[in-house]
Amino acid sequence: MLEEMRMEKNIKRQVLVVDDEQINRDILGMIISRNYDVIYAEDGSEALQLIKENSRTLSLVMLDLMMPKIDGYELLTILHADDALRRIPVIVLTSEKSAEVKSLELGAADFITKPYDTPEVILARVQRSIQLAEDNVIIRATETDELTGLLTKEFFFQYCRQHDEYFPDLVMDAMVLNVNRFHLINDLRGRSFGNIVLTTMAGCIKNTVKQLEGLACRCESDTFYIYIPHSNDCPNKLNMLTEMIREKLGWRSISLRLGIYQEADRSIDVEERFDRANLACSRQRSIYGSSYCLYDTEMHKRELYHERLINEMDRALREKHFKVFYQPKYNIRGEMPRLSSAEALIRWFHPELGMISPGEFIPLFETNGLIQKLDRFVWREAAEQIRKWRERFGVTIPVSVNVSRMDMYDPDLESLLLDLVKSNGLDIKDYLLEITESAYTNDSSQMIKTVEKLRADGFQVEMDDFGSGYSSLNMLAALPIDALKLDMRFVRNISEGSKDMKLVSMMIEIAGMLGVSVVAEGVETEEQYRLLKNAGCDVIQGYYFSRPVPPEDFDRLIEKEFDLSLS
Ligand code: C2E
Ligand code: CA
Ligand code: CA
Repeated sequence: MLEEMRMEKNIKRQVLVVDDEQINRDILGMIISRNYDVIYAEDGSEALQLIKENSRTLSLVMLDLMMPKIDGYELLTILHADDALRRIPVIVLTSEKSAEVKSLELGAADFITKPYDTPEVILARVQRSIQLAEDNVIIRATETDELTGLLTKEFFFQYCRQHDEYFPDLVMDAMVLNVNRFHLINDLRGRSFGNIVLTTMAGCIKNTVKQLEGLACRCESDTFYIYIPHSNDCPNKLNMLTEMIREKLGWRSISLRLGIYQEADRSIDVEERFDRANLACSRQRSIYGSSYCLYDTEMHKRELYHERLINEMDRALREKHFKVFYQPKYNIRGEMPRLSSAEALIRWFHPELGMISPGEFIPLFETNGLIQKLDRFVWREAAEQIRKWRERFGVTIPVSVNVSRMDMYDPDLESLLLDLVKSNGLDIKDYLLEITESAYTNDSSQMIKTVEKLRADGFQVEMDDFGSGYSSLNMLAALPIDALKLDMRFVRNISEGSKDMKLVSMMIEIAGMLGVSVVAEGVETEEQYRLLKNAGCDVIQGYYFSRPVPPEDFDRLIEKEFDLSLS
């Protein structure tokens, strides 16, 4: 790859000649400068400095052993001990045969004896050392992805950095290309067809980047990274690429999405530049046609905002800016709806930014592990709240808490929850756990094990956002759960005889057969309530009854329900 880049751009490999005698430097320079880009150092410390400055581009060091300050042996030792510099081969220049063994031990690649041989011999040795070192790099690691033959991510980033060094003035675009609903292609048409899609795409991408003098890799699964010189016609390129792939595949249903970070900022690392392109890629709405999205200042602002939330979480916890709200759930099986439990939902009251919705920070904290700390806070608050209500009103309001995917991998999860229940004197069945459906889809066997353990302890487990993922229905029979919470999107769209209503009825029916109760959330209207009641839904949560409210306000709901008036 780099070789091609060099040939096309007429770039010579860089060689450093280190010798304290001017005449020796001149002779070597004369011999090799026609084929190589030569830089010089007069002593070991100057050499070390140059090597560090040029560590990415330097192909070879030719090193005299006898020098003032740092001598050749010492320099060899330093280079050999340094992970980043060890890859640069060193040819030792010496007049003493006896120096050979010691130099070899210190990692030298080859020797050239003084007085110098014929220029041909020297050139051949230089070329061979460089070749060997480069082959070595290639052998040592898998540079290309087995399936597609494109670079692997690690090598891609390395080559991008090298590319930047060689073309410091070139303005580049970082692009992330992704197949829409690739998991469906795999599932509906088989993995081998999925692989054909990926290899075909890789072929087309390879052609394109070759033409445009760029680089590409397969990052993971169906995500490709592309680094090419900047242009303004990315939408056009996307169309051409989509067409090319459709034609080669002989299958027109494929659609792609492209995230572009144009004129990528060189002062940040390439990985970060691709993070930005990735962000743009994930921002896309349309999942049917091919589409693209540019990383822009708006996104940048959001990134900074997210960065701020991440940095401020700890302080906000300490300073009690997080508050737990409670939203009632009503059992609607009987004639009158009865308050049956509540869901604990977190709120962030930021002194400068105002109230921040969990929809904003929860997904963010789920990507970096902060969610665990926050969830533990909510769990503790919720357990204490059940106790407080019981002490105040003499009734038990069961509360459900949200358990993130990441919490499920926490080895202390079980003991932590058990401890909360015990220390607050709760009945275990009154402390409910909501686990989102998508948590199961990713690593179902591990999840099922954890859920089974928790249920064996006596916890009731609800599957949250049921129907939001896919393959939900066939998973249902295999899953150990007590209740499912229909995803709000279904509820939003139900009306007499509508497709979503039929789906909801069917899910309620299947749940009934499996002995799992059904909770509908996001119920806002009388009509939704009536339809769900008629379909046999057990429990309802939504603005129709109440929004999530602070515990003080929830007190009123309890008083009303149980006809208590204590305050
Ligand atoms: P979720 O668990 O599905 O919670 C239900 C969300 O629906 C809540 O949003 C609730 O306020 C909202 N909602 C309830 N009834 C209605 C309605 O009738 N109409 C509409 N439009 N919305 C309704 P919220 O509180 O903003 O929470 C959003 C999501 O954030 C939650 O979705 C949950 O995934 C997450 N979340 C909230 N608190 C926590 C927490 O303590 N831990 C974790 N891990 N996640 C939390
Ligand atoms: Ca929930
Ligand atoms: Ca939900």
